[in-house]
Amino acid sequence: MITSNFFIDFNLIKDKNRIRDILIKNGMVRRSAFDYLENLIKKYSMDVKYNPTMDKETFAVVIWIIKYINEKPLISRFITDQRDVFQNKIAGLSLENYDNVIEYFSSLGIEDASIKAIDNKYLFKISFDIFIRYNKKLSGNKYRLIYQMLDNGYVYIDLNQVSHILREYFVVEMYNIYNEMENPNDIFEGFYDKLDELKKEFIEINRKNTMNLGDVDSSIFPPCIKEYINEINDGGNPSHMARLTLATFLHHIGMDNNGIVKIFSRTADFDENSAAYQVNHLTGNISGTEYSPPKCATLKSNHLCYMGDDPLCKMIKHPLQYYETKARYKIRKNKL
Ligand code: SF4
Repeated sequence: MITSNFFIDFNLIKDKNRIRDILIKNGMVRRSAFDYLENLIKKYSMDVKYNPTMDKETFAVVIWIIKYINEKPLISRFITDQRDVFQNKIAGLSLENYDNVIEYFSSLGIEDASIKAIDNKYLFKISFDIFIRYNKKLSGNKYRLIYQMLDNGYVYIDLNQVSHILREYFVVEMYNIYNEMENPNDIFEGFYDKLDELKKEFIEINRKNTMNLGDVDSSIFPPCIKEYINEINDGGNPSHMARLTLATFLHHIGMDNNGIVKIFSRTADFDENSAAYQVNHLTGNISGTEYSPPKCATLKSNHLCYMGDDPLCKMIKHPLQYYETKARYKIRKNKL
């Protein structure tokens, strides 16, 4: 079942007074929330995922504690780990629970989802608008609109695809709620020492983990590359194209493959063998083709350009052109 007892209750998370009540009156939830946080921080220091399932009260208290700690990499890690729990729960539903997915869509304000039997398979019919809103970070043809069966503004997708679309919904919604949460200080009266200790421990661990970019000059990276690196530093999972751009960019400016893999080791879903394979493939070691980063136009059309008001970005067509122009300028300046 993913309805009333499901582990995430977005309305509960938004209700600060109820969280305060739970904290004071429910010692079991309080203890399991603190235990969870201690383990999450411990696992973070080892770069290991921590994704046990929690009940909805514990989940809500944990996110308020994270709000108090107020460290971006911690919330990123929490959301990424719990995103996987969320997705696995949905992907593991049996046919008799498919109606719950529809109810769940409806509880999220998505009223027109339904189930349809097509070629002896039960598929979910959801509006293509929802599909394209949440498919951006999902790689693979089965998440591209062009490969979907379209029917009057709806697509038909299976449970596994639904679980991934909802997973992305979960991430967006969690960040929205987190960003709108009020200052949590007043609900934690009596717990400040414990929370400040957790915060201190996390800051110390994160300081030690900060990425070392070796000999390459990161001060002249274009904004897009800086953004992908920041996302990794914050424990996020950049999209497939952002990773490809970052890996090929770093390769072209002279970083070796081990250095590139090491950078990706901070992504929340890191798998060393797969990362090494991808990097060796992109850099031509096993494919014979040395790939280049995509052009700015491609990154722009994939919502991966972060030029802001950078004046150089307005004049160039490729992230490597940005780096080379800045490098030339820096060399000239140093000679003066
Ligand atoms: S304009 Fe090009 S180099 Fe600049 S941020 Fe966008 S994609 Fe990157």
